[in-house]
Amino acid sequence: MRQRETLDEETERFRARTKRSLEVFNHSREIAPFGVHSNYRVLDPYPIYGSRAEGSSLWDSDGNQYLDFNLGFGALVTGHSHPTLVEALKDRLEKGALLGVEFEDSDKLARILAQRFRVQGVRLSSTGAEATMHAVRLVRAFTGKNKILKFEGCYHGSSDAMLVSVKPKKERSGEPRHPTPVPASRGIPQESLANTIVAPFNDVEAVETIARENKDDLAGMILEPIPMNMGLVLPDKGFLEALRAICDQYNSLLLFDEVKTCGKYFGGAEERFGVPPDLKVMGKAIGGGFPLSAIGGKKEIIDAIVPGEVAHAGTFNSNPIAVTAGITTLTEILTEDAFSQASKKSDELGRGCNDITRDNHLQANVTFDGLSGIVSFNPKKIRNWRDFQESDVGTWFTYYIMMLNRGVIPAGTGPDEQWTVSVQHSKEDIAKHLEIFKEIAPKLRERGIEMQIVEAL
Ligand code: PMP
Repeated sequence: MRQRETLDEETERFRARTKRSLEVFNHSREIAPFGVHSNYRVLDPYPIYGSRAEGSSLWDSDGNQYLDFNLGFGALVTGHSHPTLVEALKDRLEKGALLGVEFEDSDKLARILAQRFRVQGVRLSSTGAEATMHAVRLVRAFTGKNKILKFEGCYHGSSDAMLVSVKPKKERSGEPRHPTPVPASRGIPQESLANTIVAPFNDVEAVETIARENKDDLAGMILEPIPMNMGLVLPDKGFLEALRAICDQYNSLLLFDEVKTCGKYFGGAEERFGVPPDLKVMGKAIGGGFPLSAIGGKKEIIDAIVPGEVAHAGTFNSNPIAVTAGITTLTEILTEDAFSQASKKSDELGRGCNDITRDNHLQANVTFDGLSGIVSFNPKKIRNWRDFQESDVGTWFTYYIMMLNRGVIPAGTGPDEQWTVSVQHSKEDIAKHLEIFKEIAPKLRERGIEMQIVEAL
């Protein structure tokens, strides 16, 4: 059967299984655009709506059970509703959710983060976007310079300055080795782009050239040390070291956005690669499913935050619920041993997916590292955004909906996302994921549906 027919048939099957989701969708979209409250949750023909979750499973509004490998886009390395976390939070709720004065346990959490992620100073906040925005401002304030270099295809949350060249279309993004900054949304003033410059990932020479051109005003570079918003792209050997050296050469700061990677390795990307940045942003997994983020870095840089001089504030920063969730998550759930067990399971999933793609002669490759992995419908290993654009989005989408219809959410919603294995996934969960992928793989052999990655977030 041709793939177009497979997709049509699977879409029908999806509709038959998710009638209640369709009702919720139709009702929701009367008031909320596309029926969702984050553009990343849009799905064609409509999103599934969730009702509850536990362990490695999630149930939708129709009562369908899914093995969940999206896990809140990587925020739930604890798995859902971890019993230890539930207990700790019940107790905390009774003692006050928000105090308005600093919560005494924030110091404990800041020290846990400092030790684990090798930083000397910490400031807490709620979301990744917020922490990244604060960090970028701090980089500029500390250096007294304006330009921030970011990498094409990396995502750093939805502040104007960072919504640049996130998923730019080829026609607009100029030379691969000297990309043109492209706003990722309407509503971003041209002036916001003036101080964000863009370089290709995994291309030291190109970064050197672009940094040299901007050397007098280069405040710093921001990157996902492993870009996880264009699938899962490992940095080439020596790439991060080269960025470190370029930043040192121009007195610029190196900023790792570890919103995702801090939950993929026990000590984050610095532990994985041994390259120390000047500043880090942590988010997602550290809060065990609650809104918690942090900037961490060298003491003298964090100490540049001074009231009246360099801003950093938020009503919900270090609120007792998030702080208690963070402490419990990091000390009792995401332990070194738990990470190592989950990482072995993710490797097992990666090796299994690899065998299946090979045995079925799929035009695909599998990359996995730490707690994450991805099946890319791209015959080539992806090294940067331009490679990613060659991916067969239509086949990915067919794969995704076929997996959903058989009770597995294989990854985040989109070919630019990846799977996360939590500490609550069992060996049987991995086996089930592989069994379903094996069942559907023969139908994914043919490239047949033209689809593009959407640019606007
Ligand atoms: N940075 C990275 C690398 C991310 O992946 C994300 C979200 N996916 C963010 C920042 C923004 O985080 P949040 O959605 O919590 O604002």
